Amino acid sequence: MKESADFKTLCVHAGQLKDEQYGGSISPLYMSSSYAFNDVEINQYPRYFNTPNQRGLAQKIAALEGAEAGMIFGSGMAAISTALLSHLKSGDHVVFQDDLYGGTRNFIKHEFPKYGIQYSFTSGIKASDFENEIRDNTQGIYIETPSNPTLKIIDLESISMLAKKAGIWTMIDNTFASPVNQNPIAFGIDVVLHSATKYLGGHSDICAGAVLGSQATIDRVFDSAKNFGGSLSDYTVWLLERSIKTLFLRVQAQNQNAQLLAEFLNSQDWVAKVYYPGLPQHPDHEIAKKQMKGFGGMLTFDLAPNLDCKQFLLGLKLIKPTMSLAGIESTALSPRLTSHALLTEEERIAQGINSQTIRFSTGIEAIEDLKADLLQSVNQQS
Ligand SMILES: *Cc1c(COP(=O)(O)O)cnc(C)c1O
Repeated sequence: MKESADFKTLCVHAGQLKDEQYGGSISPLYMSSSYAFNDVEINQYPRYFNTPNQRGLAQKIAALEGAEAGMIFGSGMAAISTALLSHLKSGDHVVFQDDLYGGTRNFIKHEFPKYGIQYSFTSGIKASDFENEIRDNTQGIYIETPSNPTLKIIDLESISMLAKKAGIWTMIDNTFASPVNQNPIAFGIDVVLHSATKYLGGHSDICAGAVLGSQATIDRVFDSAKNFGGSLSDYTVWLLERSIKTLFLRVQAQNQNAQLLAEFLNSQDWVAKVYYPGLPQHPDHEIAKKQMKGFGGMLTFDLAPNLDCKQFLLGLKLIKPTMSLAGIESTALSPRLTSHALLTEEERIAQGINSQTIRFSTGIEAIEDLKADLLQSVNQQS
């Protein structure tokens, strides 16, 4: 992975608040929900997304994404729903990539019809697949790359060129890559979204979200956000800022473990297929190399047909079978039984998910311990 000294420094220092009163070395935490008008030009209030800690953290994440501005939300879904609704009105249309995060898919299907907003899902991941769905009333394109769970890679540059030609906006859910591995704004994408519950938080103890973009974009999102009210508690904002100080170190270790694990799984006869953008056999490996600085900590594999998936997950001792991802601890799940259980069998098959599929979120443990845990669970079935 290409290292950027600048990025590492930004993780530690960007957006840091100064402790003027006592000279403490970390950002002070301001829990006030009420601020005097005296010497500040703005009315500071938690739901206006402008308390000192919120502004500091927004600046930090914006710096990591190379964005002009940012806003922090109470969850990834609060960030995603607010960003979308602030950019849409009744009669508008949006083109979505087919394999989206389940919560986003539910939001679109459940909420858009109530507001008279139209949408299409693409059948493929090429720019031409998106172009085919563009109509007269299309306002934007929404993507997620690497995708969940089969880690398809969408060419960011070709999507942003298509959108610019069509005069529409682009949004990306950059959660799986994290700002360490991918900075979509550099490829012309307009709005970057994060579930900070995942890599930005990184310790499975924070629920938060973020929206990054130009100042004009953030002003537009704010106009709706102050009405929807999805702001994050300053205490959690402060914890998240602290977590991001180690973002580069964590994700770099996760990238390395995931690459080694993907290569190991690829060599095993109890594994039918491995999906990891860092493997040369991955269909989108070249695109990933072009636009990603590292290939990420997420990987997916299909167990051989003779193994029972549920037994395999329950047989793991070190690796936790849980829904969430991106923590410093390794976790695994069956998308069919959990994250993608609400899809129809047909929809799952179309996304490449079957009964043997395991989605793996690689932690920072010793690689030999991870391999040993996987092997001992497989051996329980022989
Ligand atoms: C978890 C997740 C979300 C939703 O985030 P929450 O913080 O749970 O609301 C959105 N997109 C992706 C890719 C995710 O993994």
